Amino acid sequence: MSAYPHLSSPVTIGNITLPNRTVMGSMHLGLEEHPQGFERMAAFYAERVRGGTSLIVTGGIGPNEAGALTQGGATMTSEQDVEKHRLVTDAVHEAGGHIIMQLLHGGRYSTHPDLVAPSALQAPINCFSPRAMTAEEIESTIVAFGEAAKLALEAGYDGVEVMGSEGYLINEFCSPATNQRDDEWGGTSEKRRAFALAVTEQVRSALGPDALLSYRISVADLVPHGMSVGETLELAQQLEPLGVDMFVTGIGWHEARVPTIATSVPRAAFIDFTEALHSVATIPVVATNRINTPEVAEEILSAGRADLVALARPLLADPEFAGKATRGEGDRINTCIACNQACLDHIFAGKVASCLVNPRAGRETELVLLPTRTKRSVAVVGGGVAGMAAATSAASRGFAVTLFEARDSVGGQFDMAMRIPGKEEFTETIRYFLGELDRHGVTVKLGAQATTNDLENFDEVIIATGVSPRIPALPGVDLPHVASYAQVLRGEHTAGERVVILGAGGIGFDTAEFLTQKGPSHALDAAAFRESWGITEDPTVPGAVGKPQAVESARAVTMLQRKATKAGAGLGLTTGWIHRAEMQRRGVRTMVGVQYDEIVAEGIRVTVEGEQQLIEADTVVLCTGQESVITLAHELDALGRSYHLIGGAKLAGELDAKRAIREGTEVAAAL
Ligand code: NAP
Ligand code: SF4
Repeated sequence: MSAYPHLSSPVTIGNITLPNRTVMGSMHLGLEEHPQGFERMAAFYAERVRGGTSLIVTGGIGPNEAGALTQGGATMTSEQDVEKHRLVTDAVHEAGGHIIMQLLHGGRYSTHPDLVAPSALQAPINCFSPRAMTAEEIESTIVAFGEAAKLALEAGYDGVEVMGSEGYLINEFCSPATNQRDDEWGGTSEKRRAFALAVTEQVRSALGPDALLSYRISVADLVPHGMSVGETLELAQQLEPLGVDMFVTGIGWHEARVPTIATSVPRAAFIDFTEALHSVATIPVVATNRINTPEVAEEILSAGRADLVALARPLLADPEFAGKATRGEGDRINTCIACNQACLDHIFAGKVASCLVNPRAGRETELVLLPTRTKRSVAVVGGGVAGMAAATSAASRGFAVTLFEARDSVGGQFDMAMRIPGKEEFTETIRYFLGELDRHGVTVKLGAQATTNDLENFDEVIIATGVSPRIPALPGVDLPHVASYAQVLRGEHTAGERVVILGAGGIGFDTAEFLTQKGPSHALDAAAFRESWGITEDPTVPGAVGKPQAVESARAVTMLQRKATKAGAGLGLTTGWIHRAEMQRRGVRTMVGVQYDEIVAEGIRVTVEGEQQLIEADTVVLCTGQESVITLAHELDALGRSYHLIGGAKLAGELDAKRAIREGTEVAAAL
């Protein structure tokens, strides 16, 4: 029997029987608008189907121009669209899977000038302001949904999903926060739901009785004045008789100021909301958000809290997630660490989505690890993520690989990151690589500081020696109460009660979170997380959210930066606001435009706006960037020996795990 019997069991939705309960949830890939995007999308989805995913839901496609997410964004309105999509549906069907197309009207989240919404209320996350739809526009938009559904069937899709969550148009109609109409489409809870019902009815009629109709429903808006859970359940009960075959749950609008998918969100943190829907629905309910392991999925399904699970990012991280789960190889899954760095941050920057831990995602046709014809020997120096990616990728191609790591454990920067509260997921990447090193027979030498002599007999040498913390040339930097972030995070230096952090980049923020943490991390306790962010399951509370709470801090921390720009300006697009909010909740003081004069026994003397002052501190922590560790590479240069340089050793200025793993994989693919 499978280790995950519920996850691996078949289920019937509408007229389709799926072999297991892993659905690829909708996620925009950025390929929808790319010149060769549909060929690449076909390869992307087909690889996930071959990996065991039973049903794919595409990224959102607009039913008309106004509903496109961006200027020129993907729509399904013409025969040319049908032709492009057929590449995708054919590939998925040839691979033995099912696929439905999500119909998404962006409403006030569309980032083009002709955006429309129920009322002319600008979204706080959009620089464009919408126009209120006329009654005629509402009618024609409903018709457009039906037309697009017909075209989707023509393109070979097995059905469609109506996007009714995350704060897009349909969700906006349902919510008193964004629908202030007083005609037949607003004014009361019943009238606000009318648009969602009319669209669903139209789509079902266009699809006929047999094709699959999924509705993505917002079970918790998490915005002030949003729909209450009680209203959502009423909506669900009205949708079902219109011919909806399954509900996929959506959590939180994009403008919500509550983290919903970041790595600091506990796994399955919002399952109570899905369960509330499941308790009133008679059709299958699909759970979403922070379900990234088969264990979590199995727990949800076996407890009867949902019927299926929708994973999006975890299937970017590992296209074989479902197959590995079915075969009982859960420990071989490359786990999504919810960093958003290569997926959502790319999408919001107008780039193609990929994955930090799996750089092949979205590049299936380009980055291919083919078996080697000549089994050459490869030395990889450095057991951080760049080195491990290179070693495992090269070994998977059939090379004889030896990995040298100077410390007594692998992991490099991830070994430190995983100690940050809210970044516990980073341990999964180390677990995954350790398993792959073993499986591919890589010889791992720990505590081994490789020398040029050690590397003499290898055909290929890959240098991934990483970085060391930058120690700025400041008076007093050698004092005993000064430590690098690495010393603090590794427990080699114990910080006092008053701490000054120099440097407000990603690592400055991480170190501040580490030092202010009191008690267990909320990322490991869903109830504490929800309470802390003011999330409530009370079915009468609008938007299911109140005020976030202050967090008791273990230390008084001040974070300094020399630049006058906002602290944390360079943090991730989709996660930076969470780190900044967390600093505020923990009472961390940030000062920018600071000149460091001298570190002294009492703290640090600085000049701010021309005025000298002493910031008292028991400990001064240096988070002032990194420098490449490159001695070995220089020694090889001196001997005239060739090597491949990757990761932080190549470029410390933009130390970045995404680049490190990508370079490790690419160098191995090119050997
Ligand atoms: P970083 O983002 O470059 O920040 C380094 C900080 O040190 C800056 O605040 C810089 O600002 C200061 N600094 C640089 N040289 C200095 C010097 N000689 N003397 C004094 N201060 C100096 O680097 P990081 O924080 O070490 O992070 C490394 C990489 O990991 C970055 O790419 C970062 O984005 C990524 N990361 C991201 C996250 C996240 O998104 N949550 C978390 C961890 C790491 P001033 O010069 O203005 O003082
Ligand atoms: Fe998950 Fe990060 Fe990969 Fe996105 S980039 S799929 S969040 S691991």
